Amino acid sequence: MLYLSPPEDLSSLLVGEPSYRAKQLERWLYRTPVLDTSEMTNLSTALRERLQPNLWPFRVVLTETADDGATRKLLFKTPRETSIESVIMGYPRRTTLCLSSQAGCAMGCTFCATGQFGFERQLEPGEIIAQVAYASAILRKEPLPDSPSRITNVVFMGMGEPLANYRRVREALRRMIDIMKIPARAITVSTVGIVPGIRKLADEPWPVNLAISLHATTDELRSSIVPINERYPLHDLIAEARNYFERKGRRVTIEWALISGENDQEEEAVRLAVIAQRMRAHINVIPLNPTPLTAQSAPSAATIQKFMSTLQRQGANATLRNIRGASINAACGQLRLHAEGDSGRLRTGTATVTAIPRKGKA
Ligand code: SF4
Repeated sequence: MLYLSPPEDLSSLLVGEPSYRAKQLERWLYRTPVLDTSEMTNLSTALRERLQPNLWPFRVVLTETADDGATRKLLFKTPRETSIESVIMGYPRRTTLCLSSQAGCAMGCTFCATGQFGFERQLEPGEIIAQVAYASAILRKEPLPDSPSRITNVVFMGMGEPLANYRRVREALRRMIDIMKIPARAITVSTVGIVPGIRKLADEPWPVNLAISLHATTDELRSSIVPINERYPLHDLIAEARNYFERKGRRVTIEWALISGENDQEEEAVRLAVIAQRMRAHINVIPLNPTPLTAQSAPSAATIQKFMSTLQRQGANATLRNIRGASINAACGQLRLHAEGDSGRLRTGTATVTAIPRKGKA
């Protein structure tokens, strides 16, 4: 598989070809990706035919669009039937790809469809980078309306916890930044709070953006929504996020999925404002895109407005984000759920449960 090999090893897949072919192929894979090797016009026909079966490490099994075409969600399957989800989101001056770093996820966040499916396996660097390449290739043929016809921004907010797959995500970042030439500042790594991973990311040479999925301001509440908080409590997470800001000079973002009756109270907003000021962070408030696997839901419009007003009164820098692609199950894990259905017995981490609890990990 072409994307599964490091770009530096492409020549080993081109036995019998002149040495410059590797650079030509690298351009077609990483700089101007194409959907089909027949579009690799400076390679011989025989070589294009030989490469075609190995071009993509997955096949597309579902494509859905929403938001008047501005959101396109892709569900891929690998040869061993592993599901991978990506979402392309168009805006007036940017086109953002939300990609997956793991198949499934072991973190078990209670509001997340992927968390309820449990962990399947780590995605390889080539499987991560191929999501970017495929999205770039499809956009050149079928751009989203009123948005750039190329991927300008990448966010690691799809299936999986990227910092729990550090070595492979790092290699994917290297290829994106050094070979695809996507600016590090246009890439966001979003974590639910893997503190040692944040520290390692701060040591890397690239000023990528860091987003923290916070969702609660006390350890008790956070552990019930985001179980990894028991291992990496708020005090340590806040300190590490602040360290990232100081090392990189990049403002950290706090992601806050607003869940009715759980983290939408005024006192949560007041404490959130204090934490954001300590982290020097911007807050993105996203009303929950509910999954059929849990009873959680988004608050009413009035509660959302009150929460935002409290943040603003407290001097926090906060934005209310739209739910993108709610009609097409665009929250992570939902497209897979939509395509495969709920078997009724879903894994959460290593446990098998028959019902999804409202709070806490089974
Ligand atoms: S929200 Fe992210 S970290 Fe939490 S279970 Fe879902 S994919 Fe994993």
